[in-house]
Amino acid sequence: MSLKNPASLHPATIAAQAGGLLDTGTGGVVPPIHPATTFVRDEDYVPTVDGNVYSRSHAPNGRMVEQVLAQLEGAAASMVFPSGMAAVAAVFRTLPAGASVLVQSQIYWGTTAWIRTFCTRRDITLVEVEAADAAAFTAACDAHTPALAWIETPSNPWLRIVDIAACADAVHSVGGKLIADMTTATPVLTRGLAFGADIVMHSATKGLNGHSDVLAGALCCADAGSEMWQAIRLDRDTAGAVLGPFEAWLLLRGMRTLPLRVERMSSNAMRLAEYLNDHPAVETVLYPGLPAHGGHDLATRQMTGGFGPLLSFVVKGGAPAALGAVARLQLFHRATSLGGVESLVEHRHTIEPHTGIPEGLLRLSVGIESAADLMDDLGQALGQ
Ligand code: PLP
Repeated sequence: MSLKNPASLHPATIAAQAGGLLDTGTGGVVPPIHPATTFVRDEDYVPTVDGNVYSRSHAPNGRMVEQVLAQLEGAAASMVFPSGMAAVAAVFRTLPAGASVLVQSQIYWGTTAWIRTFCTRRDITLVEVEAADAAAFTAACDAHTPALAWIETPSNPWLRIVDIAACADAVHSVGGKLIADMTTATPVLTRGLAFGADIVMHSATKGLNGHSDVLAGALCCADAGSEMWQAIRLDRDTAGAVLGPFEAWLLLRGMRTLPLRVERMSSNAMRLAEYLNDHPAVETVLYPGLPAHGGHDLATRQMTGGFGPLLSFVVKGGAPAALGAVARLQLFHRATSLGGVESLVEHRHTIEPHTGIPEGLLRLSVGIESAADLMDDLGQALGQ
């Protein structure tokens, strides 16, 4: 079952009703978990239900999440993976040896690190560029004719905002594809395909699931018949990077409250950004919702309903001051990741000291708690 004409519905409706999915066997309003790994054929040796044969390629719970995510993204199709990095790898594995790729600099460090190693092994020319500078991105496309370009907006942890439409035009004009990691924005704030991306990627571990209890990744495409999408599908089916039924079921359950959570996380993050911006112990706040942020105007055009849960700020006094504040926080958990209902804080310089992250930078993933409580906690940690 699915909703009639989902394109006419708002994300809150699609998500809350799980795209119209029900348990058709019992009439339950929650779709069931299907743990079977193999499926029966009839006397004529034809698969009996929906073409299901074997769960590496035919996974009912994975398909349910994919259906709802595609509706939320306005995508032709979507595919889920056992982690965000598995989704990143699935895209890059389609590249032939010797290709060129353009990757935004200073994005999620795990993505950069993996791509660098992969490109070296595959003899792929990797060009890293500050994609928030649309002119630099366009010049790099013209100079290197990449087969694909990879952007992340807002970027983690620098909160740079990239003009998806400008990047799509630039890479399409040299025959390449644009892939956008939209983990932080989620489809609630930005639908990357509508701005011209060919594929949108998510670490579904983050906001999509939202409860810090499922590791998953997703890709959503504008053209399900494209050579790249078909290659990714074949690779997933045959190489086996599939999401298990229990994780897929939990992810769909988490997604039912996605718009509500994103709305609350964004309004909380905005209030904290304004509070920190006026705080005497804080040097800089990186949050696209602040009018002084370099990407604010673009973010206002490209993001609808808020600016997301991720915000970074630099504490005066470098690493000792930042780590001192982190130690005093009572509500923010000292933990990596983002997009969950609970607020997290991370000193990225401790994790990735050689990437140019300011020593005093703290990254917050703002949850759905009371903004007043979160503000009080930051206040006592920073010293009012
Ligand atoms: N992309 C971004 C922006 C991320 O923040 C992360 C994880 O932190 C990933 C990709 C990788 O996702 P996963 O941890 O689910 O493999």
